[in-house]
Amino acid sequence: MGEGVTTRKAGDRVGVPWLQSTCGRCEWCQRGKLSFCPNQIATGITTAGSHSEYMVAYADATQLLPNGLTYEQAAPIFCAGYTVYSGLRFADPRPHERVAVVGIGALGYLEIQYSKAAGFETIAVTHSKDKEELAYKLGADSVVANGEGLLKEGQHDSLGGGSSSGADVILATSNSYKATADSIKGLRPDGRFVLMGVSTEPFTISPEILFKRARIIGSTQNDREHLYEALDYVAKGKVREMTEIFPLEEISMHMIK
Ligand SMILES: [Zn+2]
Repeated sequence: MGEGVTTRKAGDRVGVPWLQSTCGRCEWCQRGKLSFCPNQIATGITTAGSHSEYMVAYADATQLLPNGLTYEQAAPIFCAGYTVYSGLRFADPRPHERVAVVGIGALGYLEIQYSKAAGFETIAVTHSKDKEELAYKLGADSVVANGEGLLKEGQHDSLGGGSSSGADVILATSNSYKATADSIKGLRPDGRFVLMGVSTEPFTISPEILFKRARIIGSTQNDREHLYEALDYVAKGKVREMTEIFPLEEISMHMIK
């Protein structure tokens, strides 16, 4: 424990997210939007740590782990879980809205569960037939292959006067921008499309976004409040992780491909 640290005590179980510290002097720090600080100190990038047995961290950067949550459960939440839960929160889904998750990988499998845990009807979008069963197991209400499928999905039009299909919120976790852009076909009017997957592919947006008055939102890790909630859902057993544990020496063999 460093001198002057008062908020943490020896023996605390903590995790450290990517953003550790900021300059405190720029416009974005003054606005309280720390993630936009151009002089930020980030774990594993501008300061040592992560993927190691010991590290030094800023006390304020650490997040206390909920009781009962193991380190192995907590670790993926500080990156993948924080990211996808933050995207869900930032999309601001409202009661009765329908959420779609594009891509069922290391991000998407958590996103489906967070969306369900938060109480939303959730549609998984994947063209991998072999992931269909997993999507249902994770709690998806339905699984579709693409934007066309999403557009047809969820028709509970009890009025008989027109379609109520598609998704109000699309959470794009895939690193295939082709599949991601295609899913926009299934976005409902006033829908929000949140992009979280990183790709080098160009991202092409169809003009239907105009007529639907839809919003495209980029999102990473937006607020520590989101990290708190993301951890809490796992601690309460409402979101379950799929993890494999490897020795540290093998880390470079198991990095995300
Ligand atoms: Zn700053």
